[in-house]
Formats: sequence, C-alpha cells, structure tokens
Amino acid sequence: VSPPPFQHWTIGSFEVFSLNDGALALPPSRFVDVPHKRAATAADLRQDKVEIQVNCFLLDTRDGLVLIDAGCGAAFAPAAGNLLKSLELLGFSPDDVTHILMTHLHVDHAGGLVDADGARVFNNARVHLAEAELAYWRQFDATDAGADRSVKAAAAALSAYRERLLPCPAHSQPRPGVVSVPLPGHTPGHTGFLVADHGEQIFVWGDIVHLASLQFAQPNYGYAADVDGPLGVETRRKAFADAAAEGAVIAGMHLPFPGVGTVARIRDGFSFLPRASA
Ligand SMILES: [Zn+2]
Repeated sequence: VSPPPFQHWTIGSFEVFSLNDGALALPPSRFVDVPHKRAATAADLRQDKVEIQVNCFLLDTRDGLVLIDAGCGAAFAPAAGNLLKSLELLGFSPDDVTHILMTHLHVDHAGGLVDADGARVFNNARVHLAEAELAYWRQFDATDAGADRSVKAAAAALSAYRERLLPCPAHSQPRPGVVSVPLPGHTPGHTGFLVADHGEQIFVWGDIVHLASLQFAQPNYGYAADVDGPLGVETRRKAFADAAAEGAVIAGMHLPFPGVGTVARIRDGFSFLPRASA
C-alpha cells in the first residue's frame, strides 16, 4: 500500500503539509557504522534493498507559501519525483510557491527545483540556502563527465535560480516564524528549520535520519553520502537527545510518510514515535 500524496497539520495559525515525493530503494551497504567503518549487509537489515521515503514539507503562512525542499524531480522517476502531483492535489500550482527553504542540495532534495531540461519549476520563488552549502557545491565541476548526480543537480538548481538565491545564515529567520538551525555533517551546510507559531512548533530536520528502522536505535550508522561521517553522527546524536529532552515534534525528509513524530530515549539509543495525524 503506497502512502497518500499529502498529510495536513496545523502549527498555530500555519497550515503545514507533508508532501509525498515518492520512495528510493537502496542497498544495505549505503548504511555505515561510522566509528567501526563497517557497512551494513543484507543480513543486518534482513533485506537486499531497503526502501526509504522522500518527503517535502509545505507551510501555508500569512505571508506566503513556503516549500521546504523540492524532492527528486526527474532523477528517480517514476518511483520518486511526485511533489508537483501532491501540490496539485492540494490545489496549488508551482507558481504559488513564494519561498523555498533548502535543507541541502543532494539530488533527492534539489532535483525537483528544475524540470528534465534544467528549467526553473518555481517561477515566483526565492530560494534560501546556507552559505556553507553554496560554497561546498560550487567547488565541483558539473561538466566533468564523472560528476555525480548531486553535483549536476546542485549546479542545475544554482544556475536556474541564480537571480533568486538568498543566503540563509545560521540561526536567522528566513521567513517570519521560521528559524534556520545548522545541522552539519551530512553536508557542510545541512540545515534544519524550526517552525513556530502561537506556542506550537515543529522542527524540520532534513536528513538527520535516512533509515528510521536502523538509525534511531543505532545513531552511529551514517549514510554513504555523508560528507563528514563522524560529524554527522555527532549532529544526529545531539538532534535525537535534544528532541527527546524537549518532547519536540520533528519532521524528516526520509522518515516514513508523513514523516512527523517525536523521539524517545531507549537504553543506549532512541526510538521514533510516528504521528499519524494532527
Ligand atoms: Zn536525502
């Protein structure tokens, strides 16, 4: 049974939506116990391929329609890249989006900023991005034949939105009610967004978790695409500990749809308590 295209929540006076972009199938070897430098096996995960969800989040605020991440676009179609269908089912067109906050520029987040020809999808949106993330992706040559998919996706996005990019400094307010929180490790500029209104809040933490069934219990497991694995583990442990201590509602791009829940401490690790509805 595939999950629904969207799920509605409210945070104060903000309407918040989990948007289902699709799913990715990954080999277990993409998950790595960082301190022990050991990749997971099919036996560890009891599967040859693990499926992870791709979520985006949409905030309908008093002053604009704010998208957090843009999904895969054409990169993994048709398994993923369904963001625009989910938006359309909600009655929104891409032109209605006024601001896009990027957690980072991997292809499963930035791919959807452009169409299959590299043209801008969200014509009226400004794109907010941490400067460390911008600097990181700008060092690569996307025209290199060996350039990876994320290098190409980042270059395409930065080119298509070059006049519409806004730097998003750490702990700034890219939009009213939204604060940027640096979560470095997965990428240098990986950023979460704390959304708060009228005493309610939700923390959109991007890629703190790729595989919920593994990483909450064993936070030492990173993902092969982590730019700085040890820093990623440290950031994940802190994010889990803070969320558990505060009873925070968190939202993740790769948590099982709708990607929202709370975190509890168990023994040496943590567990995820998914939330089914508002
Ligand atoms: Zn991702």
